[in-house]
Amino acid sequence: MPLKPSDIQKKLPDGGKRNCKECGFPTCLAFAMKLVSGGVSLEKCPHLDPEVKEWIIDAITPPIKLVSVGTGERMLTVGEEEVVHRHEKTFLRPPGLAVLISDIETDQAINAKLKRLDEYEFTWVTFKLRADLAVLKFESGSKERYLSVVAGVAREKRPMVLMCEELGTLFAARDLVADQKPLLYPLTNANLEEALPGLKKKVVPVAVRGQNLEEVVAVTTKLRAAGVSEIMIDTSPQNLKEALRDYTLIRRAALTHTFRPLGYPIISFLPLKAEDAAQEALLAAVLVIKYASVIVLSDLHEETLFPLLVHRLSIYTDPRVPLAVEEKVYEIGAPNEVSPVVLTTNFALTYFAVASGVEASKIPGYLGVKGTDGLCVLAAWSTGKFAGETIGPFIKNSGLEGKLKKKRLIIPGLAARIKGEIEDELPGWEVIVGPKEAEELPAFMPKLFAKWKEAEGGTCG
Ligand code: SF4
Repeated sequence: MPLKPSDIQKKLPDGGKRNCKECGFPTCLAFAMKLVSGGVSLEKCPHLDPEVKEWIIDAITPPIKLVSVGTGERMLTVGEEEVVHRHEKTFLRPPGLAVLISDIETDQAINAKLKRLDEYEFTWVTFKLRADLAVLKFESGSKERYLSVVAGVAREKRPMVLMCEELGTLFAARDLVADQKPLLYPLTNANLEEALPGLKKKVVPVAVRGQNLEEVVAVTTKLRAAGVSEIMIDTSPQNLKEALRDYTLIRRAALTHTFRPLGYPIISFLPLKAEDAAQEALLAAVLVIKYASVIVLSDLHEETLFPLLVHRLSIYTDPRVPLAVEEKVYEIGAPNEVSPVVLTTNFALTYFAVASGVEASKIPGYLGVKGTDGLCVLAAWSTGKFAGETIGPFIKNSGLEGKLKKKRLIIPGLAARIKGEIEDELPGWEVIVGPKEAEELPAFMPKLFAKWKEAEGGTCG
């Protein structure tokens, strides 16, 4: 259950009624409200007993720990999810997609995988989509070979998981790239006692592997007691059913019961051997929905990675906020001074439909995308966001007037009734009512352009 400010207030001095203002807030309740939103330190109230302090710290700590792997622009941050079901609010931090690299693979094969990790980047709406990290598996038995693979991957500052059963080699690899904050895997019941002194020497995130939930709980509890806090967990499921069972229990235990030993992001090695890339992507797609925070793929394939990334984006997009593109003028083709301006709203789907329509018409043009908080044409019009008085300033400030010899604006057919308003706001512009559906643009625009050309004696374009 989410923590309410009144729960905290009751724990403050005199049941939250002292209101002495020493914390800088007018009342204890105001302080409690700020505390719950993370906007103030607990230390600001000088009247708290240590026991109460401890209770409050525990209560305001997010139930799922935030964990970061890597540094800089490519850093992956997962955790601090707030809901079990996406429809309750939103999922917050998309899972990292990782590619598995073994040190028994040839240098050529490893470089090819890294190239795919670096270069497969897709643009979708306004987002750049790509896989996130490399998992480096120690299988060769040669410490020297493993360290050389780790060093090679580290050169491009790629976030990485060091996957090594041999502690000496694992810590040597960690020391080599500790400044890049790798994730160490696996910490287990069997190796924990031996690993603890080494772990404390250079603290980086770790991932716990257990054969079941109980084993994971035992290890995370000991790690937490030893002061290691950035932890991920793996319950070693043997098939998809087990994975869904474990991951759902983990999410519910963390969020519904605030069970701290399971309050960590999940790292998932695919729970069964996929027959091909498509099946592997399907398994990963299920785990994107059901709570994995890092998903390890055997390789990256352009044709399956792209849909998987779009799926991840969809699941981790706030369902309460329409997907929107930036308000601006987009160029389609190579428009010139006689090219038309097609106007639409910034609802992503509308933008894509209209942009595709203009592109398919083969008539280069400007696409004026008016910001409407992601609403489609009719919804934006009915709420006053797509009207003459908002469109006029948008076009005037866009710089289009300086570029165009012929100022011609094609508005959506669904917004035909605002033609007059726009003409009043944009003197000197010819406002044309376009089709109601974007799919009609490929036929509509060439006809219109031919008409203009004829009227102007062939000088148009
Ligand atoms: S300092 Fe403490 S007791 Fe005083 S108002 Fe703030 S929260 Fe309440």
